[in-house]
Amino acid sequence: MTMKVCAEPGCPTLTTTATRCPDHARARMRAYDQTRPSRQARGYDAAHEAKRKQLAPIVATGCVKCWRCGRYIAATEPWDLGHDDRDRSITRGPEHRGCNRATSGRR
Ligand SMILES: [Zn+2]
Ligand SMILES: [Zn+2]
Repeated sequence: MTMKVCAEPGCPTLTTTATRCPDHARARMRAYDQTRPSRQARGYDAAHEAKRKQLAPIVATGCVKCWRCGRYIAATEPWDLGHDDRDRSITRGPEHRGCNRATSGRR
């Protein structure tokens, strides 16, 4: 059996089974697991942000109603682009930030 030094730079740990010591092998797996969903989420966020920017000038006129409570969103009021509560992939439209918090806080 040959012992090899962990492939991670600066790590002196010897390993026989893998190119990396168990700690670094695990760290790499974890990093890989994290990149996949977050890359997807970033693309999704970008699309969401683009839509929000598109709506911003319209909401700023104060003529848009919150889809949750049905009241107008004042030009100066903070708002979010709301999602359907059951299916997050459905974009419902502008909503008061307060209305958004009220539902998402309930778990
Ligand atoms: Zn190592
Ligand atoms: Zn509202």
